[in-house]
Amino acid sequence: MSKLKKLLFIILIVFAQFTANSCSSNQGQIKVSSPDGRIEVQASEINGNLYYQVKKEGTVLIENSLLGFELKEGDLTNNLKITKTQYATKDSHWDQLWGEETSIRNHYNQMRVSVEEQLNKVKFELVFRVFDDGIGFRYEFPTQDNLNEFTILDENTEFNFAKDHKSWSIDYNTQYYEGIYENKYLSEIDTVSTPLTLESEDGLFMALHEANLTNYASLNVTATEGSSKLKTYLTPWSTGEKAFLNAPSVTPWRTLIIADNAGDLLLSRIMLNLNEPCKIEDTSWISTGRYIGIWWGMHTKDYSWHIGPKHGATTENTLRYLDFATKHNFQGVLAEGWNKGWDDFNFSFTESYPDFDLKKVTAYAKDKGVMLLGHHETAGNVENYEKQMEEAFQLYQKHGVHFVKTGYIAHLLNGKELHGSQFGVQHYRKVIELAAKHQIMIDSHEPIMPTGLQRTYPNLMTQEGVRGQEWDAAYVDIGGGNPPSHTTIIPFTRGLAGPMDFTPGTFQLKNPISSGPRVWTTLAKQLALSVVLYSPWQMASDKIENYEDNPAFEFITSCPTNWSKTVVPHAKIGEYVTIARKDRDSENWYVGSITNEEGRTLSLTLDFLDSHATYKAKLFRDGPDADYDANPYPVLIEEIEVTADSTINLELATGGGTAIILTKL
Ligand code: CA
Repeated sequence: MSKLKKLLFIILIVFAQFTANSCSSNQGQIKVSSPDGRIEVQASEINGNLYYQVKKEGTVLIENSLLGFELKEGDLTNNLKITKTQYATKDSHWDQLWGEETSIRNHYNQMRVSVEEQLNKVKFELVFRVFDDGIGFRYEFPTQDNLNEFTILDENTEFNFAKDHKSWSIDYNTQYYEGIYENKYLSEIDTVSTPLTLESEDGLFMALHEANLTNYASLNVTATEGSSKLKTYLTPWSTGEKAFLNAPSVTPWRTLIIADNAGDLLLSRIMLNLNEPCKIEDTSWISTGRYIGIWWGMHTKDYSWHIGPKHGATTENTLRYLDFATKHNFQGVLAEGWNKGWDDFNFSFTESYPDFDLKKVTAYAKDKGVMLLGHHETAGNVENYEKQMEEAFQLYQKHGVHFVKTGYIAHLLNGKELHGSQFGVQHYRKVIELAAKHQIMIDSHEPIMPTGLQRTYPNLMTQEGVRGQEWDAAYVDIGGGNPPSHTTIIPFTRGLAGPMDFTPGTFQLKNPISSGPRVWTTLAKQLALSVVLYSPWQMASDKIENYEDNPAFEFITSCPTNWSKTVVPHAKIGEYVTIARKDRDSENWYVGSITNEEGRTLSLTLDFLDSHATYKAKLFRDGPDADYDANPYPVLIEEIEVTADSTINLELATGGGTAIILTKL
């Protein structure tokens, strides 16, 4: 076919599709399909109610589900009429400043449905975008005479899954999202946060979440009447309302990834595609890297946050950490407890404790080519933080500190509002924007659930909002640590929402001061987690003393944190996962493979490698008789030559793992 003919052919196809769409619209049914035609969303108006339905290859995944709102100003669920339907299609590529891969394709068909409520003549629009790997939809409130300021009392969006799937989620009340994801049937869940991950009996995987949560309340879902029909529950204000808005405004996108296997869930970029392009003009100050910190020592009670005989963040100790960072090629050193306020949680964000010389420490760091990473624990006192924020960011900027880890330890913000409420959403957003203005990257702990805002503000690097390694430490003396299966679940749940500051890489697995909590992995698994759990700033969590002279440390000090490609050779949620990533700055690949409490052997085919090259594979694997409980420390290090045709047997101990560096020769 000639080029011109090909073009004409494509134009004809597009034309045919649009005609078909408008035909079906005339029959009272409107629908839009994914570019590959496998996924279809249909919207319909039945007796004044509005519904949507999702199908894959003719099979209904989400049955007719209600759309609409209850506003303080009136009902927006009944007496609805579709007044117009418009279609569009988009296919483009964009590059991520940092991430799990460089280039992202944004390819979807869109259906925009204009709706009018017939009693009060209030208008809104529903925008559906259908991708090859799932869907997103949101509500938009245009400027109009009959709606200006308004209050959302409830969003009535339903997700009526056609079958009662197996699911993974955490309860809505889980503080800071630091919970163990529970594997239950949909009909058994109460109210849960998203991401909510589903596995169907016939091997389909889905994940429900949201994208671009900017000025609204966080999404949670509730199973109704013990069925697989889910209703939206937005995190409320203390006064009960869900969101205060002004027209024009939009809601976040409701997203559903639809994948043929668990591994493909990790490769969907729908959430990022549904966020807005980068708003920061000069991004030269944004970087990725590895960091260590004066932090785990607080968990082992060797150090204290507050000033005193055990104070961790002293000038002297921070310089020692900076020396270690320089020697072992870390880009950052975190020093928690540098500022006044740890005794009564009434924090100053500009005043150092007298034994911490910010000027001296930052000058030393600069000289060494390492960055001091700043720290702001707010204890949830947002009012106190917002008062000082600008001055605090200015201070850090002046001293070359381009990174702040924030913390919000408190059940309620300002003693009043939930983290995930619109109040919280607005605050966390304010922090990101103001930080960008002062060239500061953010690592938010006790955050709201991430929704892909790092596309728009790539200074939002990483976030906690996950039950991280701190739960294995004595300081959090409850729960006895994370079970070995935990890290084989979170990539497929919380991990779908964005980078996780899990802080892997602890080498002293048994806590010397506590017989209870400890790190329930082998040492080799700690290495593999640096690849499996994605974070553009990855912490090596242990005290520096515990790394000295351990040959396994080489993997941590050479593992990149910014990638050009990601593949997922093995994935079984709750059992095992293998991830291979290509370094953004070289031709080298890194592999992490982990298992739950079962030992197993996985066969890894290296077909992701360049087929014309030979690689040196350096393996860090569980030693013979390694076991996460009785014998976690043995690590075997071996080197072999491999090509894209090679297969490596990954012999994973109980609670174990393998980490591999593949250097192109
Ligand atoms: Ca935490």
